[in-house]
Parts: sequence; C-alpha cells; structure tokens
Amino acid sequence: MNGFRRDIVQCGKKIVDLGLVKATSGNISLRGDNSFFVTPSGYPLSSLSEELIVEVDSHGNVLYSASSGACYEKIKPSMETKLHLAVYNAHPTAKAIVHAHPLYATIIGTITEIKPLTYEAAAFIYPIDYVPPVLPGTPELADYVGKTQAKVIVLKNHGVVVWGETLAECIFRMQVVEENAEQIFVAKSFGKMPEIPLDEVLKLS
Ligand SMILES: [Zn+2]
Repeated sequence: MNGFRRDIVQCGKKIVDLGLVKATSGNISLRGDNSFFVTPSGYPLSSLSEELIVEVDSHGNVLYSASSGACYEKIKPSMETKLHLAVYNAHPTAKAIVHAHPLYATIIGTITEIKPLTYEAAAFIYPIDYVPPVLPGTPELADYVGKTQAKVIVLKNHGVVVWGETLAECIFRMQVVEENAEQIFVAKSFGKMPEIPLDEVLKLS
C-alpha cells in the first residue's frame, strides 16, 4: 500500500465529516506516478480502507483491485472514473480530484450561477464552469467535464467537481464553494446580492 491510497482514505473521512457528501455518493482520485488511484464503486467514503482503493491506467483499465464477498468478485472503480480521467487527460497540472454533492452549491449552481461574494471565494473558486444535466457515470458526462477549463465544475442537477495539486487543496476549494453558496442563500433572504468586483480581484492575481 502507498501514500496515495492513505491520502484518499483520509480525504474520504474528511469530506463526509464536513457534510459535503453522504452514503455511497461522491468519489476521489489521485494521479500516481504512472497510474491513477480512485475510490471504489458502492462503498461509503466514510469507511474506506487502503486496499479498497482501485488503481487504473489513463484509459480506465483496472491495474489493481481487491476481491470482495463470497464470490471474490473484483471491486469496481467508481462509476465516475472516466470523468476523473477526462480531467487528468485534459489538464497535466491536475493531480487530485474530489467529486461531492454539497447541498447549497449543488442547488444554487443548478438553478443559477455561484457568483463569489467574498474575496476568499473569488481567489479560490473563481472561475466556475457549468455542465448541463447529464446522466451520472456516462461517457457523455465525462466528455463535457473534459472540455471545461475551471478547477471548480458544477454538474447541474448532480454535484460539484474540484481539482488541484493536492487533496487538501481540493477539500478546501470544495468547502469554499459550499460556504459561498450558503452565503448566496443568506444574501437572497435579504433580497440583495452583494457581488464582488471581479475585475479588481483578477488584477491582484
Ligand atoms: Zn455524484
């Protein structure tokens, strides 16, 4: 077992503890040295172990997976493995990916856009790309995601994908997306939407 597997297991616990995903939904991956490590299909992210993490190549072919159950069937990689690989193949700088279903970001990102309300959000989650409603786990969804440029991608009627150099960066980015969406919800209760001047923020970066 290696550090990639350990980091994915720890990330799974963390994003469940943070309430960003529930039950067996959500998935996590890391780019390895010559392969990719991805969470298994059908297992809750809260209770993964290192041997459950599946290793695949850049086409999604399984290089290693443990056996499970009485029939010793091989554990399958996440149904969204092709989505993860589409990001890795499109962006050489992508080293880590987290997909979750955060409540506010999923709803607000589906109905409208998640515009940054704070400077922190502007710095860490902007810009955001949006993918139209497409069935989860399909090659079509992976194609849409592979054509995006942003590190934060809202899958309408589904959830959010974030990528970065490390899983810690992904978790932070996912938290900021969700917090910002929650802030939009609160702002709307006052009937206002105090948008941040993004031109100024972009000048700083
Ligand atoms: Zn999902």
